[in-house]
Amino acid sequence: MPDSAPVLSPPETPAPPRVTGTARHIRLTSHAGGQGAPAIHWAAASPAERGPVIGSTTTRAHRNVIGTHSGSYSVYRALAVAAHALDPHHKPDLTNTAPTDTIGPHPAWSEPGKIVSLDPWGAEIGRHFADGLAAGFDIRPTIAVTKAHVILPEIIEAMQKGRLKADGKVLLPSGGALVTKAAVEPVWHLPGVAARFGCSETELRRVLFEETGGMYPELVTRPDLEVFLPPIGHLTLYIFGKPADLADTSVELTARVHDECNGSDVFGSDICTCRPYLTHAIEECIQGAQRGGVGLCVYYRKEGRALGEVTKFLVYNARKRQEGGDTADQYFARTECVAGVQDMRFQQLMPDVLHWLGIQKIHRLVSMSNMKYDAITGAGIEVGERVNIPDDLIPADARVEIDAKMAAGYFTPGDAPTAEQLRHTKGRGLDA
Ligand SMILES: [Zn+2]
Repeated sequence: MPDSAPVLSPPETPAPPRVTGTARHIRLTSHAGGQGAPAIHWAAASPAERGPVIGSTTTRAHRNVIGTHSGSYSVYRALAVAAHALDPHHKPDLTNTAPTDTIGPHPAWSEPGKIVSLDPWGAEIGRHFADGLAAGFDIRPTIAVTKAHVILPEIIEAMQKGRLKADGKVLLPSGGALVTKAAVEPVWHLPGVAARFGCSETELRRVLFEETGGMYPELVTRPDLEVFLPPIGHLTLYIFGKPADLADTSVELTARVHDECNGSDVFGSDICTCRPYLTHAIEECIQGAQRGGVGLCVYYRKEGRALGEVTKFLVYNARKRQEGGDTADQYFARTECVAGVQDMRFQQLMPDVLHWLGIQKIHRLVSMSNMKYDAITGAGIEVGERVNIPDDLIPADARVEIDAKMAAGYFTPGDAPTAEQLRHTKGRGLDA
C-alpha cells in the first residue's frame, strides 16, 4: 500500500490478503474501457500519424493493442509479478538504451501490406514518441539495436585454414567478428497477417483465440483493436559491415535467414545441417563485408520447423525406429505422421524484417530453401546468386535431411537425388 494511502483499518484488524496489482477484481478486457488510448494507423507515413504501440498493463485505459510486450517472455513477467518480485507498475528507465545505429525510415515502412509483423518505428520510441512519453504513456521499445563481437570456433578454423583473414575492421586477429545486432519483437497487424495467410481477419482472430485455449478474448471481442503482440519468440539480426549499406542496392549484400535449431545451433547435434549452414553463412558474411559489401544473418525463433523441440525429438525417434531405418525417402513423411504437417515455419512473415532494413536486393542468398527464396522474391526483393552449403560441411548423419530437401525442391547446383537414391540415403540408428 502506498505511504500516502489513508489508513482505514485499526491496527488490530488483520491485513487484507495480498493481491497483484491495484484492482482486486478481475479486469475483463472485452470492453472498450480505454479513453485516451492513442489510435494506431498501421503503415502511416510518419510515427506521429501512425501512433505509438502501447501494450503495457500499467494504465489499462492507454492500451491500444491485444496482448503485451516481450513475446513469450510476457509469461515470465507475469510469474515475476505473481512472485511479488516485480512491481506490475514498474516503468522502464530507458536512459542510454537508444539504438547504436539508426535504421530507416525506408519507403517500405509506409507501403500498405509490406510490413505486417513488426513495428518499424519500435526502435527509437524516445525520438518518435517523445510527446507521448512526456504525457505519461508507457510506450516501450519493441526493437533494440546494439554492438557486439562474435567469436566462433568455425571462424577461427577458417582463419587457420586460410579461408578468412583478419583485417582489424570486420574480423579481428583474435577471431572476433564485429557486428551490429538487433532484437525484434513480433507486433502483428491482424488484417495484414490474415491477408498473408489467405484467410479473413475474422477467421484468423477466431482461430488464434481458440487454438491458444482462449488466451486473448479481445481477439474476438474487440475488432477495434487491430494490433496483436503475440506470445511467440522474436528474431535477432546480426549485421556485418555498415547497417546503412543494407538498403543500398549497389553494395553487395550476403544474407542468410535462419530458423532456430537449438540441438544443432548450440549443442552441435549432427542430425541436421543447421549450425554448419549458419557458421558457413557467417563466414560468407565476413568475406562479403571485407570485400566492401555488407552481411546479414537473421535468426528466427522457430524451433524445429516451428513445431517445437518435443515434436522434433519424437520425429527423430520415429525416423530411426521405422522399418528400414532412417532413410531420406521417409524424411518428410515421419514429420507429417507426428505433427500433421511437414513444416509450420510458413515463411510468409519472414521478409518483413528485410523490408524494415530497406533491403531491395540480396546479391548472395546463403540458403537452399525454396520456401525462403519464394517468400523473399515474392515480397519483391531481388535475389542474385544462391549459395549452397559445401558438401564437406554436411555431417554424416545429416545426409538424410539434405537429400530429402533437395529432392523436395531445395536449391542445388547439381542434380537432385532420385527416388531410388533417396531410399539408399540412410542415417545412423538410435544406438549406433
Ligand atoms: Zn537442425
